Amino acid sequence: MEIPDRTLSQIQGCLIGGAIGDALGYSVEFTLYHEIRKQYGPLGITDFDLDNGIALISDDTQMTLFTANGILEYAAKQAKTDAVLSKEAFFWQAYQDWLHTQSEKIAPVPPSCWLFGRKALHSRRSPGNTCLSSLRQTESGGTLENPINNSKGCGGIMRVAPIALYFSPERLPSDDPAAAAAVIGAKNAALTHGHPLGYLPAAVLVYLLHRIIYAQDPENISLEEIVSDACLMLQKNFPKQTEAVNTLCRLLQHAVLLAKEEEEDIFALEELGEGWIAEETLAVSVYTAIKYQNDFYKAILCAVNHDGDSDSTGSLTGQILGAYLGFDDAACAFDITPLEEKDTILEIAHDLYFGTEHDPNYEEKYVSHTYRNDFSNK
Ligand SMILES: [Mg+2]
Repeated sequence: MEIPDRTLSQIQGCLIGGAIGDALGYSVEFTLYHEIRKQYGPLGITDFDLDNGIALISDDTQMTLFTANGILEYAAKQAKTDAVLSKEAFFWQAYQDWLHTQSEKIAPVPPSCWLFGRKALHSRRSPGNTCLSSLRQTESGGTLENPINNSKGCGGIMRVAPIALYFSPERLPSDDPAAAAAVIGAKNAALTHGHPLGYLPAAVLVYLLHRIIYAQDPENISLEEIVSDACLMLQKNFPKQTEAVNTLCRLLQHAVLLAKEEEEDIFALEELGEGWIAEETLAVSVYTAIKYQNDFYKAILCAVNHDGDSDSTGSLTGQILGAYLGFDDAACAFDITPLEEKDTILEIAHDLYFGTEHDPNYEEKYVSHTYRNDFSNK
């Protein structure tokens, strides 16, 4: 695929990088560190463990793709009306479509996402219980003001990256577009995860990715500085969540400090947690991304070889560094030929970058409630 400029490369790098980390981590998600090394050797897992020749992606990448589909439907329909449409309603419908792919017996809402037509996405890959139960139980999901539950699992943060990718400063006019995108990220996570530490980390991830991709001075990006700015962003935009903001910022500061020390990775990660809950998933990913900021391969190995939630920490690390280093660095670190739904991921990256406003082909893809049935091709 021809890459016309750096921003598209970063968007592709973010989504492909996330899928790489997700696929490596999915093979060892429920495997302890000593068992991983027993199975794969002293360095742990170092490449895709193929299933019938395919590097399987998990619910993390599946839901990330549906987030993107929801945004693009929102954007395509918003462009056709003066009424202000709810982004969250489009996210919710997209996740209902994802729920359908998980063989869930729920009320028959017609699927609208074209991704629903991808047979390979109709696979259950250890989906998070909180996402499943939240999507089953209400018609519209939780909000920041009316939390749906008290969960701070990582099912909210692991799917929000496309919000940072799509809502460029041009598409989200604001004094601080990264912060504005971060608030959309928090609202998205709150649809299914009601604890502040379930949705504030999602805001931080969106903020980090947005600052990395839409930096005003791309030659001089400091990941450490952006993490520090993210804490100021939280304090300013979530004044009612002081306790959770302080907890999250302390953990992120600890991750940044650890990344600059000589501590062995496995001991550093133990201090940050196993990544099952959102603040820990983010902290582990911030640690690995900063420590190995110029080496995508080493970062992913660090992010997946531990006792915890390897696919989510692998996915977030891959997203952050894929955005930071660009598509070539992410895609060349591993042979991505067997990566499941690689072309679908790149198609979604293309659509997020170019938008739906000016292409008549998007009428059927994102506006009308029809989905492309590709089952016969798989
Ligand atoms: Mg997963």
